[in-house]
Order: sequence, then C-alpha cells, then structure tokens
Amino acid sequence: MSETSLTPLESGAVIGIMGGGQLGRMAALAAAHLGFRCHIFCPEPDAPATQVTPLVTNAGYDDEAALASFAAAVDLVTFEFENIPLSAAEFLAQHVLLRPGAEVLKTCQNRLREKDFCRSANAPTTRYAEVSGPEGLARVVQDIGLPCVLKTAELGYDGKGQVMIKAESELEAAWQQMAGADPAAAGIVEAFVDFRLEISVIVARGTDGTCRAYPAVENQHRDHILEQTIVPARIAEAAAQRAEAIARHLAEEIGLVGLLAVEMFVTAEDEVLVNELAPRPHNSGHWTLDACATSQFEQFIRAVAGLPLGATEPLADAVMKNLLGDEAEARRLEILADPAAKLHLYGKTEARPGRKMGHVTRLIPRD
Ligand code: AMP
Repeated sequence: MSETSLTPLESGAVIGIMGGGQLGRMAALAAAHLGFRCHIFCPEPDAPATQVTPLVTNAGYDDEAALASFAAAVDLVTFEFENIPLSAAEFLAQHVLLRPGAEVLKTCQNRLREKDFCRSANAPTTRYAEVSGPEGLARVVQDIGLPCVLKTAELGYDGKGQVMIKAESELEAAWQQMAGADPAAAGIVEAFVDFRLEISVIVARGTDGTCRAYPAVENQHRDHILEQTIVPARIAEAAAQRAEAIARHLAEEIGLVGLLAVEMFVTAEDEVLVNELAPRPHNSGHWTLDACATSQFEQFIRAVAGLPLGATEPLADAVMKNLLGDEAEARRLEILADPAAKLHLYGKTEARPGRKMGHVTRLIPRD
C-alpha cells in the first residue's frame, strides 16, 4: 500500500506490531496513552508485548493466512525488530500501510547492505568488504588488514555471529565460528576500530519529513550486550553534533517514517563512524521514558501514525542500566526502595543468563 498517506491515524485506530518483545510492549503502552490500540503479531505465546493488549496473533512470520487476517484487522503495521522475514514485510505492504517501509527493513537486515547504504549516503564507517565463503577470506583480510572483525551479514545481534581476527592463522576457525554449519553463510569483514567509546543517536522522522533527534548517548557493553547508557555521551560538543547530523541525514536518505537508531564509534581523535542501524525503538533509548517529555516509544508511535513529533530535549541527565537474567528479580525490591531509581520490568518469566529482563533508570538533576 502507498507510503504517501499524510492523514494522521484517528484515535482508537489499531496499530499492528510485528514482534512481541519488550520494545513492542513499551511501544504498545505508549500507543495506548495516545488513544490507539495495538495488535501484536508474534510466534511466541505470552511474549512481553502480548501481556499489555488483548489483540494478539500467535503465528509464524511465514504464515500468509495469519498475516492476511492481521493486515485486515489493523490500520497500519510497524515492527519492533528488524529480523522478521523480508517476505512477510513485503506481503504485508501489499495489504496494509507498512511504516517504516519494506525497503528500510531490507537495508537494515543485512550488514553489508547497511554499510553500502551508509557509503552511498556519505556517512563515515570503518573500512569493510564482503566475503562470500571461506576461500575468499584470506584475500579480504589482507585487503582490510589486521586486526579485523568478521560478522555474519544477516541475523547477528548482541555480538552473535561475530569474531575478532588478530592473526592469519585464525581465519579458518573464525569462519567456522561465524558461519557454523551454514554453507550459504555470507559475511562482512570490518577493520577493527580502536574506539574511545560507543554512542548512539535515535532520530524520528514523520510522514511530512520532519526530523527530531534525541541527543547522543554513551553505550557501555559487557560481553557484547548493552550494560548501561549514559546521558549525555561524554564527548566533545562538535562530535555530538556530527553524530546527530549523521543520524538525521541517514533517516532522510533512507526515506524513513518511524524511528532510526544509529550506533556509532567515537575514536580518540573524535572521529565518528557508523556501526549499525536499527529502524525501531532501541535499548539505548530507554532512558527517554523517564527523562524526556516524549519517550522514544511515544515518538515512534507518533511518527508511524502521522502525528506531530514530540519534544526530545532531556529534562535531566540519566543513567540507564539493563537488568539481565536473575538480576532483575534479585534486585527488584532494592531498586523499588531507592527513590532515585525508576524500575521497568518486561514480564518475562524465564530468566536465562544475559536475557534482558528489565532496566532501571536513574535521573541526575542538572545544577
Ligand atoms: P554489532 O553487533 O555490530 O553492534 O557489534 C557488537 C559490538 O562489537 C559493538 O558494540 C562493538 O563493541 C564491537 N564491534 C563491532 N564492530 C566492531 C569493529 N569494527 N571494531 C571494533 N569493535 C567492533
């Protein structure tokens, strides 16, 4: 269906969300505040987002009959994670308004397409090259230089499908680790960035092309999983402005309607390099729930629903910490007893190690 409708979604309309995780849950709650209903489509029963709305389709992403009924039951569709099959997005787009569009999803599902898009938009990235099989790896690594990082082109997240290569003797093992038993695996080799810190900028773009960005925040990872986000990022003002300008430019170039999270590296020389794009709410934007007049989730809903975008200025500095595995249950009461802390739990019952169960935000008043 046409992406060009500028008519704002009416109150009471139903927004379909592909994916049932915590991002969908928090987006559905924000949608409810704006007077919308949400219908969640996901394969997993009792997923976090399905606990906050009665409208749920539990079916596989490749179930066309279920996708068709879902499309008929909602006024527009968006997604809360980008690894839904492209075929499902393209199928939905034929039946209902899909925002962001299938093309955006296609670009962001594949690290190579994503980096090629950044290159075509003149956004700086580390040097990279495609590698389509173990035979070609030596040549590509020679080209890019050591150390480098081999990543699977598709379906990698939180550092999965990613291997650091420090010596030529490691190539075979690196490919094995990245590709596993998949003979069709494709990869991307990136020059290792000796970054000073990692940041992200979340930008919203509305149906009329208006862009609003949240300030650059600093992301600290442990074992490749986001541990905490510090607001604002401790970088020079010029670097923060450059990061925001890059994010806005990418949102425009990709033709976004919705939210785009742009993860970037900042080097010791204050160079800003794009690492990854996510066309949806992002873990590094959770602090906005408590520190901004408009949270990233509300902004996301406003953008896809064709509503005016909200204010993005932080009302306080903040630190957001993820609660992983058992930590959420173990620390719940202690966090709730702390008047400076704001707890958010995602309703997940199984606390696997490293699983994101919730987060806590602490606001830091400015003097
Ligand atoms: P990604 O899955 O691409 O977001 O990568 C996960 C994490 O691995 C990033 O947050 C970085 O900490 C690290 N990483 C990814 N790519 C590179 C790179 N080219 N150079 C150095 N570190 C990287």
